[in-house]
Amino acid sequence: MIAVDRNKCPHDHRCPLMDICPEGAISQGADGYPIIDYSLCIECGICIKRCPLRAIKQLN
Ligand code: SF4
Repeated sequence: MIAVDRNKCPHDHRCPLMDICPEGAISQGADGYPIIDYSLCIECGICIKRCPLRAIKQLN
C-alpha cells in the first residue's frame, strides 16, 4: 500500500504528483496533504520515485 509520510510532506504547495500519477489516483485535500485513491492506485511506485521530498512510501 502506498502512503503519505506526513512527517516529510510540508503540505504547503500544490502536490506535483497529481500530474505524474498515471492513474489519476492522487488528489490534494484542503489541508494540503495528498490523498491517494486506493480504488485507482495500481502501486506502480512512480510517486515514490518522483516525490521531491520523498514523502510517499510503500507500506506492506
Ligand atoms: S503508486 Fe502509481 S498509481 Fe499509485 S498513487 Fe503512486 S503514481 Fe499513482
